[in-house]
Amino acid sequence: MIGKNTKMKYEHHFYLNIFFAVIFSIICYIKHVQNFNIFDFWAGVLPYSLLITPDLDSEKSKVSQLWRFVGLGFVWSPFKNFGHREALHHVTWGPFIQVAPVWMIAEQAGINFGMWFFIGAVFALEGHIWSDKVYSRCHKWIK
Ligand SMILES: [Zn+2]
Repeated sequence: MIGKNTKMKYEHHFYLNIFFAVIFSIICYIKHVQNFNIFDFWAGVLPYSLLITPDLDSEKSKVSQLWRFVGLGFVWSPFKNFGHREALHHVTWGPFIQVAPVWMIAEQAGINFGMWFFIGAVFALEGHIWSDKVYSRCHKWIK
């Protein structure tokens, strides 16, 4: 049974993404990771934790309500037809679907996002997808 309590909340996804992104940033800083751009990284992490998340495939999710609130709910409606936890929650296709259009629009507009923006975006999306997996797996075990 997929009850409401087997899903992670919007806030919890956000806090978890921030937590891992902070740890990741610290590691990159300590290890002197080449070209690590902390601003670009966080510029990817934040919108992809708050505004564009895999839960846009669910009508009831907070992030969908947000898009509807500003009158742009239709943008993500095709993905709702795939069903919740399908296309946008796919480990490889999910991030691709959500990052590629932003990249293409930016490219057309002549905006050049750095590599670390995309790393941040994918980091946040994978964080969401994997924490959903772990959370529902744990939930099954406890039951
Ligand atoms: Zn989710």
